[in-house]
Amino acid sequence: MAGETRIWTPIDYEAEGKQADCLRLPYSSDLSAYGWIPIPLVCIKNGVGPTALLVAGNHGDEYEGQIALANLARTIRPDQVSGRLIILPALNFPAVAAGRRVSPIDEGNLNRLFPGDPYGSPTQMIAHYVSEVLIPMADLVVDLHSGGRSLDYVASALVRPGRTPDEHASLLGLMEAFGAPVSFVSDGTGGGGVTTLAAAAQERGALALTTELGGGATLSRQGLALAEAGLKRVLKAHGVMPQAVVEAAPRTRFMTVKGHGAFVYAHERGIFEPSAELGEEVASGQMAGRLHFPGLPTREPETLLFQSSGLVATRRFPSLTNRGDCLFKLMVDLDLGPEHAHHA
Ligand SMILES: [Zn+2]
Repeated sequence: MAGETRIWTPIDYEAEGKQADCLRLPYSSDLSAYGWIPIPLVCIKNGVGPTALLVAGNHGDEYEGQIALANLARTIRPDQVSGRLIILPALNFPAVAAGRRVSPIDEGNLNRLFPGDPYGSPTQMIAHYVSEVLIPMADLVVDLHSGGRSLDYVASALVRPGRTPDEHASLLGLMEAFGAPVSFVSDGTGGGGVTTLAAAAQERGALALTTELGGGATLSRQGLALAEAGLKRVLKAHGVMPQAVVEAAPRTRFMTVKGHGAFVYAHERGIFEPSAELGEEVASGQMAGRLHFPGLPTREPETLLFQSSGLVATRRFPSLTNRGDCLFKLMVDLDLGPEHAHHA
């Protein structure tokens, strides 16, 4: 959406060296008529080179990326960077401060509001600033997510399909460098589609990598270790941290999500008893779980079946479930074609 952002910062993105401050998101409330909300921002620039935009806290209750980026922002020195790193470890800061997926100010789900609106709600204003100010500076965008309170996720990296064969190959290369156990290509079915930060980045010509590093609104140690090692490998491969000492990327498994049939949803309110574990291979027609009805103990639980075969990539975390809640998402191996046959 056209219009000038009202978000501002004392950080000069063109200045050499390391600057740590915040974005100032104007927010006028009963107790702060001319106030702003701080969104932490660290910018490290050293000479000419590519720019990487690193984001976590897009959803406030996803923690591996928040910690990984705070660790990086705290420890990195300008001489380790070639080009520019822009780090926002808590992008939707009100949601992060509340430990929630969405912002408590406007119920805004940031990763469903891109490309945003400079005159909209606080969360829409953040999306607009990222789309119109930060992404245009970036060659590479990494948005670190996890499953949040409602989902657990296999540790994975994901990209949207490239718009050209070259872009697609570069995106697969990013996931190979990140080195998650699973790397998947998804157009966002079941998720945010074109309303995500990654979609806004791709629209503006940047390479965008997203992750899912755990879930259940807790911190996975394995997910945090992967975030830190994978990020370093991606930044080295992209030339932003050329001297970084990294371990070789473990081989990843390229997968994809095949339409709505990959999902299992609840059709009634009840208590969800899962019959499959995260990471398990399941077959079409296999029992996915049962829904129990606590108010009607003699009613037979409803049996839920997988509608397709694949790897259990996502599982609902809370047991209490409403009609329409996602219980499982499956992935299947991606057909990479002959040029990637060595991954098969
Ligand atoms: Zn998320």
